Amino acid sequence: MSASIDAIRKVKLSSIVLPLKTAISDAKVFTGRQKPMTEVVFLFAEITTESGHEGIGFSYSKRAGGPAQYAHACEVADNLIGEDPNDIPRLYDKLLWAGASVGRSGVATQALAAIDIALYDLKAKRASLPLAKLLGPYRNSVRTYNTSGGFLNATIEEVKDRATQSIEEGIGGIKIKVGLPDNKEDIRRVAAVREHIGDDVPLMVDANQQWDRATALRMGRALDEFNLVWIEEPLDAYDAIGHADLRQALDTPIATGEMLASVREHQDLIDTRSCDIIQPDCPRVGGITQFQKLLTRADAAGLDLAPHFAMEIHLHMAALFPREPWVEHFDWLDPLFNEKLETRDGRMIVPDRPGLGITLTDQARAWTRESATFGD
Ligand SMILES: [Mg+2]
Repeated sequence: MSASIDAIRKVKLSSIVLPLKTAISDAKVFTGRQKPMTEVVFLFAEITTESGHEGIGFSYSKRAGGPAQYAHACEVADNLIGEDPNDIPRLYDKLLWAGASVGRSGVATQALAAIDIALYDLKAKRASLPLAKLLGPYRNSVRTYNTSGGFLNATIEEVKDRATQSIEEGIGGIKIKVGLPDNKEDIRRVAAVREHIGDDVPLMVDANQQWDRATALRMGRALDEFNLVWIEEPLDAYDAIGHADLRQALDTPIATGEMLASVREHQDLIDTRSCDIIQPDCPRVGGITQFQKLLTRADAAGLDLAPHFAMEIHLHMAALFPREPWVEHFDWLDPLFNEKLETRDGRMIVPDRPGLGITLTDQARAWTRESATFGD
């Protein structure tokens, strides 16, 4: 019996605006570079084949870029109709070349990420396998830490309460934001949280790129005593040499990479030995085809892995990495999906549902700002 070959029949693209419960501030707000964040804009791709198989994927943007991602995806989506949904890297290249004049990173490839992820979701669903199982995981659960409780708009009492709640919910680590205008206040907050959670709970800090090199060195030295798992984005995301120098000077490991928008940009971090933990973001680097290339390169370079945001995708991706990674727990996306990811004993459990294991809620559908269908 020969294998049956399927064809893509329909592509539906939707721009969905998720409102946040409270306005969110990290260090970029305190340096005046950004306004508090009130919503996240998602690009969802839903793909259907002639045989009736379906896949869903998403990309996202914060503060700006949502309409651009959606517009770019709409311009190239037609190229998928009639194509074999199995040929994902080839289809990625086809879409890339269809829009190549605007480049191979950033908004253009983030638009393709939603489609690429949907094709992998479809492939895993057709195989009746969770996405991680389709690709070949090293583990069925991943260490997880909470981020959404530790932003700078929260008082230290709120941060401590949320840390307690996270640990009770089976989330193993706690990350808090730093980068306040008053460096001493950062240290006070870190000290208060370390005292509150005790020495045994993994603790990380994230400066969201807002220190200069001298400040990062001074703060890094002051933070070394708190036995942090990592210091995240101490410097501008593109300052690879600055990160490499800082890494040499400190005991605490350095993590970065979330803002980089392609595999190529991450390669600079790898080549310059700029970090101990690499933090790629699957939608931001163009999807799963690209992310897998990065996993191979990060592994070969001996780096550890802690993907950024979008735990619904990154749980599956992190499970593929040979060394024990971390996945970042955010509760923000909960209203979008009917399913909830399970956390237990400090770990997030890879769901046993086929594909990514997500379906959109009625509420998410109601938050649709624009949608378009191609094919059919
Ligand atoms: Mg971060």
